[in-house]
Amino acid sequence: MQVPLSSPDITELEKNAVLEVLNTAQLSLGPKLPAFEQAVAAYTGVKYAVAVNSGTSALHLIVRALGIGEGDLVITTPFSFIASSNCFLFEKAIPVFVDIEPQTYNLDPVKVKTKIKELKEQGQKVKAILAVDVFGHPADWAELEKIAQEEDLFLIDDSCEAIGASYTSQGQTKKAGSFGDAGCFAFYPNKQITTGEGGIITTNKQNIYDLALSMRNQGRAVMGSAWLGHERLGYNYRLSDINCALGLAQMQRLPEILAKRQKVANYYLEQLQDVPGLNLPYIAPNVEISWFVFVVRLADQYTQQDRDQIMQKLRTQGVQCNNYFVPIHYQPFYQQLFGYQEGDFPITEQIAQRTIALPFFSNLTNAQIDYVVATLKNAL
Ligand SMILES: *Cc1c(COP(=O)(O)O)cnc(C)c1O
Repeated sequence: MQVPLSSPDITELEKNAVLEVLNTAQLSLGPKLPAFEQAVAAYTGVKYAVAVNSGTSALHLIVRALGIGEGDLVITTPFSFIASSNCFLFEKAIPVFVDIEPQTYNLDPVKVKTKIKELKEQGQKVKAILAVDVFGHPADWAELEKIAQEEDLFLIDDSCEAIGASYTSQGQTKKAGSFGDAGCFAFYPNKQITTGEGGIITTNKQNIYDLALSMRNQGRAVMGSAWLGHERLGYNYRLSDINCALGLAQMQRLPEILAKRQKVANYYLEQLQDVPGLNLPYIAPNVEISWFVFVVRLADQYTQQDRDQIMQKLRTQGVQCNNYFVPIHYQPFYQQLFGYQEGDFPITEQIAQRTIALPFFSNLTNAQIDYVVATLKNAL
């Protein structure tokens, strides 16, 4: 049996929506763009959304809109997809990594506080914090917002893996992507919903909205100026109406897709609960996870080599899997640029060497899960 790691959930609704655009003359900057943006903004509970051509572009525009630039220090997590850190390198800002919580794998607010204090004592001022809702589990936003407020820092919610997740603090529940100054989602085909390629910025701040709108479209003024009038440095980060139509149909089906993913996760949890040597995903009591991937962690007696051998065994038996994530501070160009080394972030490292992302998507069948579980047990 072959079981892929991920697979998009596309139905006739999506196919017809895309065809409908192809039958018009407006393949870009047409009516599907604002419709998609409004759907995401309303769902997330924010005022504004700006669709762009990738999650990475969304992060880049947030960084630029906040005026984060050369030499600025930004606190973020080494346990993430590389884009959440690269977005600062695009602007010559400096990512300062802080280790994660051992259960949620998210940026640890206590360590963030300590790091800010340490930097202050060295006469250095931090400009922003970017936290990631890793694997669809929201970061500890109440604590992070408190720190950002006390220290007067910008706060960015990289929610590229967490559309539909929510976080409750003091009786108030908010959706992932709605925290801090701005958030974002991504729509690559392995995410919960897809536009093929795509991303979106979510914010309640009008200035961020205005700047992002302009910068995604070559720095054009948003209203009233000529097509060849450019007010600022911008990019072509536009998302076509073809992609937006696909995204809009996926947004309509998002509750259904998330429910299917929950069902798949539940079946995995049930089948794996008594397997010795495995740590199953943790979900904090004040959180509703949006299942992006299903990541198990081997117990501490397993080494990285053991993990890699287990993954190799799974793959040779048709079970696709991956080592989410290689810590960002292990990437050679980060080590060259900033002098990061192995040993700098022990919790991240200890987790990263033992994780295995198993096949996970909304149409994964129980028979496929049974096969994955049997193959994994055997490999263990
Ligand atoms: C997927 C992802 C992104 C953006 O990815 P794109 O491929 O550029 O759409 C950013 N941050 C995280 C944490 C992600 O998982």
